[in-house]
Amino acid sequence: MESLLEELLEECRPCTREGHVATYIPELAKGDPSQLGIYVLRSDGHHYQAGDWSARFTIQSVVKPILLLLALMDNGEACVRARVGVEATGKPFDAINVTDQALLSEHLNPMVNMGAITMCTLIHGDSYEEKFQRLLELTRTLTQDPEVCLDEAVYRSEKRTGNKNRAMAFLLKAYGLLDGEVEEVLDFYFRACSLSVSCQDLASMGMVLANHGRLPHSEQSLFPAQYANYVNAILMTCGMYDGSGDFAIRVGIPAKSGVGGGIMAVVPTQMGIGIFSPGLDQKGNSLAGIQLLERLSNRLYLSIF
Ligand code: GLN
Repeated sequence: MESLLEELLEECRPCTREGHVATYIPELAKGDPSQLGIYVLRSDGHHYQAGDWSARFTIQSVVKPILLLLALMDNGEACVRARVGVEATGKPFDAINVTDQALLSEHLNPMVNMGAITMCTLIHGDSYEEKFQRLLELTRTLTQDPEVCLDEAVYRSEKRTGNKNRAMAFLLKAYGLLDGEVEEVLDFYFRACSLSVSCQDLASMGMVLANHGRLPHSEQSLFPAQYANYVNAILMTCGMYDGSGDFAIRVGIPAKSGVGGGIMAVVPTQMGIGIFSPGLDQKGNSLAGIQLLERLSNRLYLSIF
């Protein structure tokens, strides 16, 4: 397996030159697009890694499934579903979905920014500081990594420039879909996106989702199996934004991307996979990362289709 990963990684390396690092968050523009790493964690505990697997990067939208999990754990499925829909939008991650002058909860999706910002308001806690600590705790547990922490520079950078997210949050507020102070909710969202993680962290998270909510090699259930099912289903249909259909054909497993270059992939019952390569395609997904996952999926017959 290790040599297979090395081989596929070398095949995909040239493709890193075709991607572009995100620049709309100035701090992310400093990323090195030549980086490419992978970490595979199997359900039997064996793990395999290659390339820049130990690099740290910000989680960005890969935090969305964690926000969704926490919202489900705090409120239950019916309540979350009533506030944030589950249908694929077919729109880019920063689309402002106003249809015929109406913005309804069913227009939202937890993997797309407006839905994710709304989910931030569903997380329990007396203050946003307490909500953030609960998110951080859950992330550290899912990743089994106590070193997950806030990347201050990326957080400040996005907070300074994130006016599109601000516009979305104000629209949500105007349409009665967002409780609380817009700036406070956004501050939490920007901090959530700026957690610093590694490929290993994403593989561990993916493994818990693949394992029905249980840590591998443990009877400890972190959340009910039905929530893993809920999250994985939404990852399959919307985890790669408006590239999810193409991804389903090419790779065929639930996955979530982030503009930091990370991808978390879930092979139900079998493995969690973490990938990092900061050069993005036009939809904001890691370009070489998808190519690497496609090749791995083909070689190991991972597609669920
Ligand atoms: N923090 C980023 C944003 O809201 C996350 C987007 C992404 O990773 N696709 O714009």
